Amino acid sequence: MSINARCGSCNRELLLGQLVQPSNGFRCPFCGFAFAPAYATVAPAVAARIMVAQAALVTALAELGSMTGGRLQLDRAAILDPIAGTLPEVETKQPALAREHRARWWARNAAPQPAQTISHQ
Ligand SMILES: [Zn+2]
Repeated sequence: MSINARCGSCNRELLLGQLVQPSNGFRCPFCGFAFAPAYATVAPAVAARIMVAQAALVTALAELGSMTGGRLQLDRAAILDPIAGTLPEVETKQPALAREHRARWWARNAAPQPAQTISHQ
């Protein structure tokens, strides 16, 4: 599973997996921009931890989901929001996703909602 990223200097896309080699200095493979100037020696290991953690989370969620089916529904926001909250806001080039993201941002600041149920009336 790859995690896409974008260079803050040249704006080109790369993969987080391209940054896990300490010898590369945690720099943009295209323009050489230093992504973590003061932490070039430790940042690659942190990037590797993120990839391992994401894969572990996705695998565990899929595993539990296959055991429980519809009998147990985990709260999506409880899982996704803490992750989303650590990432800076960026304008996505996919308008649908951007709209959805803004909607969720709005919902987070609104009054607590009852559990969502889909009405067929
Ligand atoms: Zn770059």
